[in-house]
Amino acid sequence: MAEGTKVCTRVQFEHYVRDFKMPQFEKTTVHMRDPERVEQIICSLIKGGASKLQIITDFDMTLSKFSVNGKRCPTCHNIIDNCSLVTDECRQKLLQLKNKYYPIEIDPHLTMEEKYPFMVEWYFKSHSLLVEQRLERDKLSQVVRESEAALREGYEQFFDRLHQHNVPVFIFSAGLGDVLEEIIQQAGVYHPNVKVVSNFMDFDENGVLKGFKGELIHVYNKHDGALRNTEYFKQLKEYCNVVLMGDSLGDLSMADGVPSVENILKIGFLNDKVEERLDKYLDSYDIVLVKDETLEVPNAILQKIL
Ligand code: C5P
Ligand code: MG
Repeated sequence: MAEGTKVCTRVQFEHYVRDFKMPQFEKTTVHMRDPERVEQIICSLIKGGASKLQIITDFDMTLSKFSVNGKRCPTCHNIIDNCSLVTDECRQKLLQLKNKYYPIEIDPHLTMEEKYPFMVEWYFKSHSLLVEQRLERDKLSQVVRESEAALREGYEQFFDRLHQHNVPVFIFSAGLGDVLEEIIQQAGVYHPNVKVVSNFMDFDENGVLKGFKGELIHVYNKHDGALRNTEYFKQLKEYCNVVLMGDSLGDLSMADGVPSVENILKIGFLNDKVEERLDKYLDSYDIVLVKDETLEVPNAILQKIL
């Protein structure tokens, strides 16, 4: 960690934990640059309650797990990459692309602007390969069922509580929308308060993949989200309190342009390259959860608010 980094001391930390009355904050996975500020934001969110709250969240590696027992879990894309509908040759090419571009995605020494064109390249190449495979819509459900897709522990409470209190949930993902929807559907948490904005497949009249709908969403162009979903956010203009969740620095801009935000709590999952990236994550996320495969902390906060 860089010199001069201010992270709260154990004593301060315990004071805040006591005040929050949230034992989940005692977990060693929880990191905060400024716990006092976090406390203030949480207090404002509690004051606003359910009627002012909305959730804006990423999907891959935020709602889904990064790893189980040291083994990486799949992203939406990886579920397709690894499935039997894709030829071995294509799988190999997709893997090569991942080996080239994923390190760029998480490189702590490159700016988001520098990464941007590489992400566009990755998506363009990998989506073109998927189209060549002529994937069939009707097979997706089975593919997801047989995959190793895993949502973070506590996902049921997370989605069910938000549904119970009618809190709008905007899942904004640079993954594959069709796969994502199938995952949350199969998990029984695709409630009516959930809206998914992602890269959706476009199928021909025979149900064969022919391309992707709309403008590409990649890891570093999420700042356009509100702009491209003005109707949704216009309807939610009374919902001025936001809990934002992500795992990438690109996710921080997901609430850019959302009208009338008064309080926003940013929760970041730091899964990979922790040492190199913790400092930057602490600068930009209010709460950083390091190698924490659960939703315990968000759930504890939501329990206070709702
Ligand atoms: O839901 P989220 O926005 O996190 O989805 C994006 C993720 O998909 C990225 O973290 C990226 O690593 C992954 N991805 C992938 N294969 C691709 C393109 C993106 O696994 N071809
Ligand atoms: Mg993600």
